[in-house]
Amino acid sequence: MCGIVAYVGQQDAAPIIIKGLKRLEYRGYDSAGVALQNQAGLSVFKKKGKVAALEAELAGRDLHATIGMGHTRWATHGEPNDVNAHPHYSFHRKLAIIHNGIIENYATIKQALLKKGHSFQSETDTEVLGQFIEDIWENTPDASLEDAVRLALREVVGAYAIVVMSEADPTQLIAARKGSPLVIGVGNGEYFLASDATPIVEYTKDVIYLNDYEVAVITNDELRVTTLDNTLTTPYVHKIELELEAIEKGGYDHFMLKEIFEQPRSIADSMRGRVLADAGTIQLGGLRDYMDQLARSERIIILGCGTSWHAGLVAEYLFEELARIPVEVEYASEFRYRNPIINEGDIVIAISQSGETADTLAAIELAKSKGATIFGVCNVVGSSIARATDAGAYTHAGPEIGVASTKAFTAQVTVLTIMAIATAHRKGTITDALFRQLLVELEGIPDKVAKVLESAQKIRDIAYIFTYARNFIYLGRGMNFPVALEGALKLKEISYIHAEGYPAAEMKHGPIALIDEDMPVVVIATKDGSYEKVVSNIQEVKARKGRVIAITTEGDTNLPDMVDFTIEIPKVHDVLMPLISVVPLQLLAYDIAVMRGRNVDQPRNLAKSVTVE
Ligand code: GLU
Repeated sequence: MCGIVAYVGQQDAAPIIIKGLKRLEYRGYDSAGVALQNQAGLSVFKKKGKVAALEAELAGRDLHATIGMGHTRWATHGEPNDVNAHPHYSFHRKLAIIHNGIIENYATIKQALLKKGHSFQSETDTEVLGQFIEDIWENTPDASLEDAVRLALREVVGAYAIVVMSEADPTQLIAARKGSPLVIGVGNGEYFLASDATPIVEYTKDVIYLNDYEVAVITNDELRVTTLDNTLTTPYVHKIELELEAIEKGGYDHFMLKEIFEQPRSIADSMRGRVLADAGTIQLGGLRDYMDQLARSERIIILGCGTSWHAGLVAEYLFEELARIPVEVEYASEFRYRNPIINEGDIVIAISQSGETADTLAAIELAKSKGATIFGVCNVVGSSIARATDAGAYTHAGPEIGVASTKAFTAQVTVLTIMAIATAHRKGTITDALFRQLLVELEGIPDKVAKVLESAQKIRDIAYIFTYARNFIYLGRGMNFPVALEGALKLKEISYIHAEGYPAAEMKHGPIALIDEDMPVVVIATKDGSYEKVVSNIQEVKARKGRVIAITTEGDTNLPDMVDFTIEIPKVHDVLMPLISVVPLQLLAYDIAVMRGRNVDQPRNLAKSVTVE
């Protein structure tokens, strides 16, 4: 959540930092600030609201500086306002700090500092950490600031990515992380720091992912990384493949729309080199050594949050249907606070777009401590979850900037589908003929998604009619039930319309009471094993005057007479349907949100990468 950008080098730091903060806007935030260091000393500017408001605040000032740091805040401790925004000065203003995450034991540290006569400007946990570091620095003989940072962080419980600057050493940035991401870009006589690679990619492709409990001391010509106990480590420089176009809108009005339209490519990218229909094989490099274990497993536990949890529900159907392995899909946030039963031979699959989701990371640690083998399905290479798992398969969706996940969902489902089919084939629970058929059909999915996207105008016309609906119900059965949940979530997230997803047959056990002429009901009624049953459910809605938008299979002549609107999608094998049927729901949510004037890419209260509990 929220973001950090910092720079030290020869160039003007302020424009690089502001541009970087804008690149991180997609992560969600409520205020922004910068600290710059020059002959005039260390200056801090911060403002509630968008980076543009901060920019306006900075306009006309002499900001020349070759070292600085910037922050976008997603408030956890204290409301979003100018004072609580970061950077925060320490008590004697010897240092300034920015921080992503939560210092869980901030209250205890604050009490101790209050007793020593400190006072605080803000309500944040971050200011407490800044004062704590300064206090240690001032009161530990011979301690450098770097030592003080290490000593303070050894006392800290919680999650953090921090950057600290001080007037005493005006050429140096000190950064550290635990649980919140921090990437260092290595330039020529300059270094960049950011929460992810997007602000860095236009300057350098050489990056270092700082590890948990590491502290980096950075000047324009030196980078030194140590652990919290002051052991020197050798950072590994990765080459990132991210291109600048991937993080720009490319002519679309919103990132979300661009990402919806990228799906034929992102699904193909997630299959590339893995699904080899001609050769009749699947290759999952990252899981090669674990495929036997997966095929032998007696139970799979899938962990995720939000959209990733929905992808997990799709995978539940896939693994049970194809590989005959019982699956439990758990909200990571619930799993981690139970005393879950994990048996030998169980496999845990953790799904997260960002690979930084705090709840999922904590659930992984718990599962690990109980001896489980853990696979990751993440989109961000080098992310914390990718590194914390035993093995895994990346989704190759490319950077997803829109907060509401679209192409990451279909990429997750693609990868999980490949895993399930490969496992089933290895176990012998599907025939060779079905295996080959599924591979061929999988390869055809990108074209079919492209076909669905041709209905964009029709979907926009339907969206127009329902722009001011106050509630929505989404229904689906079998593999399309998680898709109904995902469709409802998309609408909630970006339009702020209340929407509920249900298994279609469950409607009569309660939600049917909500149906009247004002209730739009989106039903995924494709020609699959549940078609007839879903048609009956549609009849039940129509009998109560509900307005039905049905997602139907091409050529269905029955439903258009029965429902108010239909959106046709191509026929695919039942187990591949979610990859297609979710697409019109993404477009419907997008169009309604745009028509309601919502900030589609940065919906209120939401953050892209949820790095707090
Ligand atoms: N906990 C800090 C605050 O509320 C940092 C939040 C963030 O990650 O931006 O200020």
